[in-house]
Amino acid sequence: MTINDSRHRKAVETEVLIIGSGFSGLGMAVALKREGKRDFIVLERADDVGGTWRDNTYPGAACDIQSHLYSYSFRPNPRWSRVYAPQPEILDYLRATAHDEGIVPHVRFGETVLKASWDPATSMWHVLTSAGEYTAYALISAAGHLSDPSYPDIDGLSSFEGKVFHSARWDHSYSTANRRIGVIGTGASAIQIVPELAREATHLTVFQRSAPYVIPRRDHVYSEAEKGLFTRFPDTAQELRDELFWGNESRFPQRRQVPAFIEQVSSMALNHLKNQVPDETLRQKLTPNYAIGCKRILLSNDYYPTLMQPNVSLETTGISHVDKHGVVLKNQDRIDLDLLVIATGFEAADLPVAEVIHGTDGKSLAEKWQNGGQAYACTAVSGFPNFFLMLGPNTGLGAGSMIFMIETQINYIKEGVGFICDNAAFVDPEPQAQRSYVESIYQRSGGSVWLEGGCSSWYLHPRSGKLTTLWPDFMTQFRKENGSFTPTGYRVTFRMPQEALQLAEQT
Ligand code: NAP
Repeated sequence: MTINDSRHRKAVETEVLIIGSGFSGLGMAVALKREGKRDFIVLERADDVGGTWRDNTYPGAACDIQSHLYSYSFRPNPRWSRVYAPQPEILDYLRATAHDEGIVPHVRFGETVLKASWDPATSMWHVLTSAGEYTAYALISAAGHLSDPSYPDIDGLSSFEGKVFHSARWDHSYSTANRRIGVIGTGASAIQIVPELAREATHLTVFQRSAPYVIPRRDHVYSEAEKGLFTRFPDTAQELRDELFWGNESRFPQRRQVPAFIEQVSSMALNHLKNQVPDETLRQKLTPNYAIGCKRILLSNDYYPTLMQPNVSLETTGISHVDKHGVVLKNQDRIDLDLLVIATGFEAADLPVAEVIHGTDGKSLAEKWQNGGQAYACTAVSGFPNFFLMLGPNTGLGAGSMIFMIETQINYIKEGVGFICDNAAFVDPEPQAQRSYVESIYQRSGGSVWLEGGCSSWYLHPRSGKLTTLWPDFMTQFRKENGSFTPTGYRVTFRMPQEALQLAEQT
């Protein structure tokens, strides 16, 4: 059905619409399903659940947060195969969640949201997708900030006649064996990909713009005895989860540049480099020129050794342009390639979903967020009534499990949706309350390594320079501030007088 055809069809009405079925959207759906009070639909543009864990299938993809922590607290998995589970296992976990919790029938697969607008006449959200129309009392965007690949602005990239793909859009039909391969980027994705590609490549060139800090990856396979223990005695898995949580939480002072914490992690990283890379020239190239923690600290035991293989080169000269044969460096040296892997991250600072969500004045979130995302309680936006955002502004973490942040928002939103539906109300953050909240975030960001560490990263908004993606405090503080909905700070409007509502409930 075309979009125009869909206009002739009656809109599907539901209480709650969720955009996305990754970790956050799926978790939100499970919370609503288990509560059993709300009618809800999940819109998913792809043909499967899983979000970034469905899309990132590159060789070596795995989580760099421990799986016993990087999983829902309400669905512990005692049988994680290892400390840092590989991507297929995480995707299986999400698929099983969707299936076992009865979420799949609620998901409309293959539907891309084209426009979501607040309709003042009905006080409902009106959502147009590539396959239909919906109306809802509450709209939840769970589109994530690692969902849309970011491509580098490099001259001539489209003229390359070899194969090109982004790390998040891996083409598995293309054999990478016996190829001349280039990888642009040295972030969390690239350092997992590089050791895998190097195994079979004729030659692999890693194009580094800035050196990352890398620390040892303390990974191991869980034995059958350990998995059996976690299965039979769930408290042991919970104790492990708690221990992992506090281990991550205790690292936050690094990001506030507390000297003892910085020195400890910095020497861990630099010793790792020294131990693994004896060659001084290569080590120099791999030594970061900014404070540790300014960008994500990476975990790997095989990245540095891979760079010392005879079929691998680290190129730091800088890319001038790409032509039909390969990459031309700033010194005019050229590197001919068969495959160019773009491992340059995601559109996290300017979220593409913001372009399709329109508020009371008709303007989109993207138009409001010219200087970066801003939200009340990191979850609601003034001028967008009955709208909640998961993993929106200032919800990312430099260290820690995003699942903790997601579960915090799930609870807040579930309570917010309860308030909206039970009171036939609509809630819209007071502009002043939102301004004060965002100001408190900016104040807390001051002095952090993200702003003062001397690097440029996607954590800072490219136009305003503000920290708009990361949460600048302890994870526990996020939960304390944003873990429970109250109407304070919101303009609340009731669809029908409260007396009439009470009367209706009694009869
Ligand atoms: P990323 O961390 O944003 O890294 C992008 C890399 O591309 C950086 O090295 C960057 O260099 C480089 N780059 C960007 N534009 C470039 C250009 N025009 N020319 C040359 N180099 C360029 O992206 P990512 O590695 O995909 O990771 C993104 C996020 O995904 C991570 O921070 C993490 O949150 C998540 N992730 C998690 C895991 C996991 O294990 N859980 C794995 C992968 C990804 P500069 O440093 O100089 O900017």
